[in-house]
Amino acid sequence: MDILVIGSVALDSVETPFGRKEGVLGGSATYFSTAASYFAAVKLVAVVGEDFPTEHRQFLGDRNIDLSGLQTRPGETFRWKGRYGYDLNEAHTLETHLNVFETFHPEVPEGYHDSPFVFLANIDPELQLEVLKQVDKPRLIACDTMNFWIDGKREALINTLGHVDILIINEAEVRQLADEANLVKAARMILAHGPKTLVVKRGEYGVLVFGEHSIFSAPAYPLEEVFDPTGAGDTFAGGFMGYLAATNNLSDEAVRKATVFGSVMASFTVEDFSLDRLRSLCWEEIEDRFRKFQALTDFGGLD
Ligand code: AMP
Repeated sequence: MDILVIGSVALDSVETPFGRKEGVLGGSATYFSTAASYFAAVKLVAVVGEDFPTEHRQFLGDRNIDLSGLQTRPGETFRWKGRYGYDLNEAHTLETHLNVFETFHPEVPEGYHDSPFVFLANIDPELQLEVLKQVDKPRLIACDTMNFWIDGKREALINTLGHVDILIINEAEVRQLADEANLVKAARMILAHGPKTLVVKRGEYGVLVFGEHSIFSAPAYPLEEVFDPTGAGDTFAGGFMGYLAATNNLSDEAVRKATVFGSVMASFTVEDFSLDRLRSLCWEEIEDRFRKFQALTDFGGLD
């Protein structure tokens, strides 16, 4: 099954304790599409400026991502500048330049309207809603967001949440969105806004999935080398949605496996800057790490 994604395509400048990169490929939709493309056909709706390097477009095209919904507009590409300290779980945003996103209105190409899986990656919630108005009853709609929009466009975000099945956000954003410190209570409050499932990303501590009647926990893979956590969340979402779309199965069991595939994909992204680790990643490595995840949490049953 195909996945339609809207989100940011960006040029990022990132500083971590292990190095610094200026103007590298980034963006929520970029990480998502690249990860999801290992599992399913991806159609990208976004905008870039005239400064967007051809090599980045080529990279996405080489991963078979359909770029007919990627507009190029006069002006500069979206830019984000962030810094991480030794606590790599917390990104400090230094600069956000919306640039061409300021006047952007998504146009979902004709052939995309019946996309069964839709992912609203981190972007202005008003634009997320504009996309939903252009698609016919998808089988599954999932959505991400961040503190920038929870602060700046809370009402629009709550409105978008009323239309989505799965919300995928990080732990601090769950607390901020619900205005509640306890994660379980906060999750319940967020589920009351519409989503049936809330996926809480907890950085190096893994992921908690709150369903209507169950909670599932997956660890993050304990890595010796973590260089740049940028995009881990979007890559997680790409693996997660990619697996669900590939199997076209939305059972509890499928959601659990999707959570582990998402975690596997994210564990690769953080091993290098930008999307560099994903440039060389092959399917055998993904399967191998999936098995390592299994071994990591297998403690057998009661004797
Ligand atoms: P993540 O680390 O998965 O939360 O996402 C990092 C990516 O999100 C970076 O590549 C940024 O370009 C992108 N990003 C940062 N701020 C925003 C924002 N306000 N809207 C959309 N995308 C953003």
